[in-house]
Amino acid sequence: MILGSHVKMSGKKMMLGSVEEALSYGANTFMIYTGAPQNTRRRKIEELKIPEALELMKAHNIDVNNVVIHAPYIMNLANPSLEKRQFAIDFLTSEIERSAAMEATQIVLHPGSAVGLDREEAIRWIGEGLNKVIANTKDLKVKIALETMAGKGNEVGRTFEELKAIIDLVADKTRVSVCFDTCHTHDSGYDIKENFKGVLEEFDKVVGKKYLSVFHINDSKNIKGARKDRHENLGFGEIGFKALVDIIYDEEFKAIPKILETPYIGDNPPYKEEIEMIKNRRFESDLKTKLLKQEGE
Ligand code: FE
Ligand code: FE
Ligand code: ZN
Repeated sequence: MILGSHVKMSGKKMMLGSVEEALSYGANTFMIYTGAPQNTRRRKIEELKIPEALELMKAHNIDVNNVVIHAPYIMNLANPSLEKRQFAIDFLTSEIERSAAMEATQIVLHPGSAVGLDREEAIRWIGEGLNKVIANTKDLKVKIALETMAGKGNEVGRTFEELKAIIDLVADKTRVSVCFDTCHTHDSGYDIKENFKGVLEEFDKVVGKKYLSVFHINDSKNIKGARKDRHENLGFGEIGFKALVDIIYDEEFKAIPKILETPYIGDNPPYKEEIEMIKNRRFESDLKTKLLKQEGE
């Protein structure tokens, strides 16, 4: 099982601190943003403590091939403004260069938002942008993992058909893949709680299972089809612990990293406890009260 969570990359330790955080949760992989997801200020590659991080990973059997990067939310390859689309292309290019420097093999991307409201045009722009980014980084192997989206606002990628339409436009298909987010697919209306196998069959028919490169494992605060995108801790939401654990333990996707993006409980990351729950296959209904109590002490 390849299991971890998103972790911070900040301060002096940068990526080294990310590895330490992942290890403290008992994880064997992790996901990082190369900086704050809501802005584009980034530290220089030389300041990221990459060699130190890779060394620590090696010592603890974290395979760098399973490490996942997440692109920031603020860029939109589907922005109707040509200038803003170009900004997104340039920034995603530099994010892929950073990812490659960290030896990561994939970067998760929210495909874009159809702010111009024409979804077909938005998809064309996303395809065009991806081709430019891939051309800019043609010597790098990093895959762009398009995330399945909840469909809030004008998000593109809320259906498998939309992801397929984007992938169809990408010239070099070895550079695209899909990040399957359990909260998002549930929120966009897929019945992963009762029928994960059926949903996967549909995904295979429309997109192709071979494109799956990472799972985001989150419960959801909202009912199926709510299009809200509000993550919940494992077992505390509408998807429930059993369905999520079944997905995590699915033999077919054993080799694919599973990343928790569940919310902090108070000021506490829940990942150590959630990873334990997953390993024990046992839901701890007092997880939240326990972590909140720790905080009070
Ligand atoms: Fe995401
Ligand atoms: Fe996600
Ligand atoms: Zn989300």
